[in-house]
Amino acid sequence: MNNDIIITAQLPPFLDEPLHADYRCHDYLRAADKPGLLAAVGGGIRGLVQGGGTVTPIALLDALPKLEIISVFGVGYDGVPVDYCKARGLKVTNTPDVLTDDVADVAVALIMMTGRGFVRLNRFVQAGGWHKQGPELTTKLGGKTVGILGLGRIGKSIAARVTAMGMQVAYTDRAPQDLPHRFLPTLEALAAASDFLVVSCPGGAATKNLVGADVLRALGSKGTLINIARGSIVDEPALVKALADGTIKGAGLDVFADEPNIPSPLLAMDNVVLLPHVGSATRETRQAMGDLCKANLDAWFAGRPLPTLIPELA
Ligand code: NAP
Repeated sequence: MNNDIIITAQLPPFLDEPLHADYRCHDYLRAADKPGLLAAVGGGIRGLVQGGGTVTPIALLDALPKLEIISVFGVGYDGVPVDYCKARGLKVTNTPDVLTDDVADVAVALIMMTGRGFVRLNRFVQAGGWHKQGPELTTKLGGKTVGILGLGRIGKSIAARVTAMGMQVAYTDRAPQDLPHRFLPTLEALAAASDFLVVSCPGGAATKNLVGADVLRALGSKGTLINIARGSIVDEPALVKALADGTIKGAGLDVFADEPNIPSPLLAMDNVVLLPHVGSATRETRQAMGDLCKANLDAWFAGRPLPTLIPELA
């Protein structure tokens, strides 16, 4: 109980309770008087815990002069001002690897649900449609090309899964990797080669609206967009238009630009499958993420090496 930390996101009890057991925790998210809380305790805060989707303003960090570490409960840290943290010498940690398999599972599920029409077919059965007519024919997945934007931990895990399903893998990334998959130097070329274009790169300023109207046009009417990374990477109005006018065939989306708000036209389309950002949402994985999030804080305050410092600060 020696150190004061501030919590800026809704955390699950299996992380929140151990944090409260070992730290003096200050709840910024639920504080009715946030400036009052900062004035009262900001000067003594040494750690900050936030979610993967939490945006941390520089003004908040400026109000925490003794802050040493930000521990992110999630792998994505696009909400953290990394350059600022670097300049100030703040450590930033995240929870990579432990969620990779689950997120890859969701990508494959979205490929199956969109390609094989499983969600639509489920609705068809539940509505009694099978008594009136046979089911629609859908798309064979084997032999089709999955184009991966960002062949990192999750991208590679997706590649392994779809390869086992007999699909082809192509990718684009900041640089080619020594892997037996086809590298395409531009996102548009990747989209043109893809039946399923899967977004699995980080969010943030560098990738904002990377998947825009031109990329969707290149993906074309045979192509389906899958996004399990961040909503900010896809130009959502352009996506809605491309889905509505048949520029692309469909979309499977786990993430959105303004969660939990989803552009209303998407809710009415039967060529999209929508999930509520559940990439890592299994009990086992969230527990492992919670353990790692706390392990990073504990290591820092015990003077041990940080288990998962983000690469920009390593
Ligand atoms: P990762 O291992 O860092 O992989 C990201 C890949 O994208 C890396 O190969 C990276 O290349 C590449 N990349 C970075 N910037 C790029 C750009 N501008 N254009 C093309 N490629 C780029 O991360 P990960 O663990 O696979 O996670 C990927 C993302 O998934 C996270 O950042 C997070 O936002 C998202 N995510 C979503 C969920 C969910 O619930 N849906 C759960 C977990 C994660 P370098 O190696 O050169 O950096």
